[in-house]
Amino acid sequence: MSQSRSQMKRRRFLNNSLWGAFGGMLIPGLSLSACEEESLLDEEVNYDGKVLIIGAGAAGLYAGYLLKSKNIDFQILEASGRYGGRLGKLNGFADYPLDLGAQWLHGKNSIAGEWASQMKAKITLDDSDEYFWFNSQIKETLPKDIGKIFTREHDLPDISFKEFAIGEGFGNDFKDIVEAIAGDSGAAASRISAYWKIKEEENWNSGDDDYKFQETYFDLINDQIVGDIKDHILLNRVVKGIDYSGTEILVTDQLNNTYSADKILITVPITILKSNAIQFNPTLPTDRTTAFSKIGMDAGMKVFLKFSDQFYHQNIIGGQICGAYADESIGKAGDDHILLAFIMGSQAEYLNSLETNDLIVKALLGELDSMYNGLASPSYIGSHVENWTKNPFIQGAYSYSTVGMGNARHIAAQSIDDKIFFGGEAMNLNGHHQTVHGALETGHREVLNILKSIK
Ligand SMILES: Cc1cc2nc3c(=O)[nH]c(=O)nc-3n(C[C@H](O)[C@H](O)[C@H](O)COP(=O)(O)OP(=O)(O)OC[C@H]3O[C@@H](n4cnc5c(N)ncnc54)[C@H](O)[C@@H]3O)c2cc1C
Repeated sequence: MSQSRSQMKRRRFLNNSLWGAFGGMLIPGLSLSACEEESLLDEEVNYDGKVLIIGAGAAGLYAGYLLKSKNIDFQILEASGRYGGRLGKLNGFADYPLDLGAQWLHGKNSIAGEWASQMKAKITLDDSDEYFWFNSQIKETLPKDIGKIFTREHDLPDISFKEFAIGEGFGNDFKDIVEAIAGDSGAAASRISAYWKIKEEENWNSGDDDYKFQETYFDLINDQIVGDIKDHILLNRVVKGIDYSGTEILVTDQLNNTYSADKILITVPITILKSNAIQFNPTLPTDRTTAFSKIGMDAGMKVFLKFSDQFYHQNIIGGQICGAYADESIGKAGDDHILLAFIMGSQAEYLNSLETNDLIVKALLGELDSMYNGLASPSYIGSHVENWTKNPFIQGAYSYSTVGMGNARHIAAQSIDDKIFFGGEAMNLNGHHQTVHGALETGHREVLNILKSIK
């Protein structure tokens, strides 16, 4: 199997030879003309207007950090009771901290990679062993190299990844492996576009290796950005309305508080934009709402299972209940045996349909017992279920590209009247959506766009 990894450990299934052709590009997320725009951040700015940022995830926090560096007045409105969004830290469950959301730094050729190096954050290359649950047996290798379907370069059809895989000879036997690959991208194989999945992998340029933080990814963002801007974040402010009909933009929250601004940067997850949880006046142009609707974002959860013994392999791919299990202790300073169940797409939908977390854990233990001859249940100590779909301000895992999506991301990310700007991982146009560094890139891009608009 290729050493490359997919989304969870992002590029697992990618063929190295394909990867070699695209790796090692210049500055992540910036084209040449964007490099020129970058100088905007060095220029002096005299702007007495105010910017409101909606959402205190990686994108919103980084945008705030950059605005602060330009002495531009800004405030961040965050719906939940904490900042970080899909980054979070769980202390106390294990004798090392766990990442509730994002945990792998996918390549070092990115802004997050630079920070990790500069700050000397303790990171470890995750080159852990991979095993497969295939035909009801644990296998070290698969009978056929599924990574080769990523090397197809011509006439890629815009059909589902499932259909494509079947057409390439990975049919019923490989059903659960195909679901695991699609699940890494946050969707069922029948929903994600093969065309876009492969194209986006080609555009990926932040590096092939995955790293884990000894502390957490949340700590990196917290230490690098948040200290400087904490005073600008207002928590528990659920934005409900944005009125941009006049010169001044008026934003209303769930308590009917009103905030005025000259520019707004929206960084909420695409699920929130699709659900019309925020009412716009005037309503957003139809091409915009259509574009939002074409960007996918489905269910996702992480379940941490604590065991007294390490009976499991470092990674097990291809379960029917959970496509990817991973040993959490890798890269951590601690002894506890924690196995992560990383569950996305239709598998997450199924587990969501179970009524309680106990039932979710029972289903996972049942699967592990069948993989490991009944060793899981006797060794089980406890669990933590982090169900991102049930988080009202996230409602899923991360964005993916649907069949027929076309240039929806480009349309979705365009600013409106130099007043309303869109960031967040789903608005990343460099193939780095679904990631923290991709979200950071959009925060950076949109601050440049704001600076351009006031020049
Ligand atoms: C389970 C899981 C595992 C992941 N693993 C990785 C990984 O290993 N590596 C990686 O790079 N990426 C990973 N990701 C993806 C990564 O976490 C995201 O791409 C990134 O954190 C998104 O940042 P963001 O700023 O775009 O959005 P978010 O972090 O979602 O921030 C948006 C914020 O908007 C707030 N909000 C929503 N509605 C409103 C409203 N009406 N008013 C005000 N605020 C609102 C939300 O509460 C949230 O805080 C993972 C994600 C998940 C869920």
